[in-house]
Amino acid sequence: MLHSFRSHNEVFGGAFLSSEGAGCYSDVYYDRAMKLHTDWSVGLSDILGNVMAHELGHLLLGSNSHSSAGIMRAHWRGEDLRSLSWGNLWFTNEQADHMREKLLAAVPERSIQMAASMRAAF
Ligand SMILES: [Zn+2]
Repeated sequence: MLHSFRSHNEVFGGAFLSSEGAGCYSDVYYDRAMKLHTDWSVGLSDILGNVMAHELGHLLLGSNSHSSAGIMRAHWRGEDLRSLSWGNLWFTNEQADHMREKLLAAVPERSIQMAASMRAAF
């Protein structure tokens, strides 16, 4: 099942999720990001980065992960594009916590201990 991401009636990407909401592949549509960049004078790298983050959000949060505000809003509006260009389009705290928990659950304990020891060394 493809969960697509839209803004101003354009689809910019999609995440491929199973009926259980699991997945590991997504697409980002460069040509449509370029058109948004041209039409709205928003940085192309800002658009691509935020669309990629949105699609990764779907892969980590599962189905029905759109929210009424922030980077996981289903349709970005003008105000979202301004926030995007200022680097202020975020996941909610709840979404960030959920993604963090899912990633930590997928990492073997040994890797977490190694990362902690490397962090302590610096
Ligand atoms: Zn979406």
